[in-house]
Amino acid sequence: MTKILHRTIGTKLPTAVTGQGIYITDSEGRSYIDGSGGAAVSCLGHNHPEVLDAMKAQMGRISYAHTSFFTTDIAERLAEQLVALAPKGLDYVYLVSGGSEAVEAALKLARQYFVEIGQPQRRHIIARRQSYHGNTIGALATGGNAWRREQFKPILPETHHVSPCYAYRDMQEGESLEAYAERLAAELEAKVIELGADKVMAFVAEPVVGATLGAVGPVADYFARVRKICDKYGILLILDEVMCGMGRTGTIFAVEQEGIVPDLVTIAKGLGGGYQPIGAVMLSNKIYRAFADGSGLFQHGHTYIGHPIAAAAASRVIEILTRPEMMANVVKMGERLQAGLDATLGQSPYVGDIRGRGLFRGIEIVADKDTKQPFDPARKINSRIKMEAMHRGLMCYPMRGTIDGIHGDHVLLAPPYIIRPDQIDLIVERLGDAI
Ligand code: PMP
Repeated sequence: MTKILHRTIGTKLPTAVTGQGIYITDSEGRSYIDGSGGAAVSCLGHNHPEVLDAMKAQMGRISYAHTSFFTTDIAERLAEQLVALAPKGLDYVYLVSGGSEAVEAALKLARQYFVEIGQPQRRHIIARRQSYHGNTIGALATGGNAWRREQFKPILPETHHVSPCYAYRDMQEGESLEAYAERLAAELEAKVIELGADKVMAFVAEPVVGATLGAVGPVADYFARVRKICDKYGILLILDEVMCGMGRTGTIFAVEQEGIVPDLVTIAKGLGGGYQPIGAVMLSNKIYRAFADGSGLFQHGHTYIGHPIAAAAASRVIEILTRPEMMANVVKMGERLQAGLDATLGQSPYVGDIRGRGLFRGIEIVADKDTKQPFDPARKINSRIKMEAMHRGLMCYPMRGTIDGIHGDHVLLAPPYIIRPDQIDLIVERLGDAI
């Protein structure tokens, strides 16, 4: 009998015993393809010898040193690696222990930034409906996923939501991509004006939406328009790349494909590759300077930030995933996955959309393809797909999204970047079967 409070209370889960490459094996000897890398975490697969070596070597040096007293070579090295890879202008790194912590830290950096520059009235956060930014209270309040927030109300005030960029559901008939992007930008600008332009602190969004919508990328120019609005009103742009970052979409940072530079970016999941809990916020020089020239103190911190073993794992993960063959494989295998899913599921009356970038793909399940009507949530389509896929030896990530009060089901795939063509085909076959 389990003594752990698992998320789904009362459900019997298999016991994961070993992991190797893209596979996880349970205590009964059954093996599962890790088709979603957990939740887009295990980007290099399991038991990667080079990452294990890096962690072991660090353990032989030092495993913990409080960051109020010490820095470490390995944390400094990791920060340098990240800055070298990030869009130009994101020159500093704040290390944390995971995705929610990264979002919390980004929000507090933004808030204190405005205090430092004498605009403490800027407190409003605008994010998007149906978004997920983490489960700590600030990140949860920022996320616009109605059913997750509901029971924790009253949640933090001063968080507001606008429409996500979700062309499959929200583009109107006859509307051009440009007109759609413009409509969303106008909605954001109207929200800023409604709240008071000098009272808005930040706009928060995932470049490619993972958990809540299933690999939904923006239309061209959407983020360029968002950036312009943020600049016009002096609002900070925070991009949450906790799930879509670290090479998942075919570039190290997903925002590289949007041609803009945010003020803050959050990363986690793939950063530690599943070997260690770690996350980071990358911040612009402008924000750094406000702190350096101001109070000189970021009023924040957690005990495990900059943990040397986590930093050693992340540093080695980055070294491996920036080898040229890695991103090439993400792009190539991503295309193969999309083509395989299109061929196998494209004609299904229950598959409305298959989309994504790199090895980040989503399948939207509908009850009626023409009207895009989702299934009744009582039918629990996502949990049934999860179970059917597990029976077939595939771990994928079926989720229930909430689309303005209407529930929708989708499946997210995010396999390790080391995946081979025959393994992609196996995912397609097993998922096709399960659906
Ligand atoms: N932001 C995004 C976009 C996420 O997908 C997640 C996790 N699914 C988080 C934040 C929170 O990360 P963590 O679970 O590591 O706290």
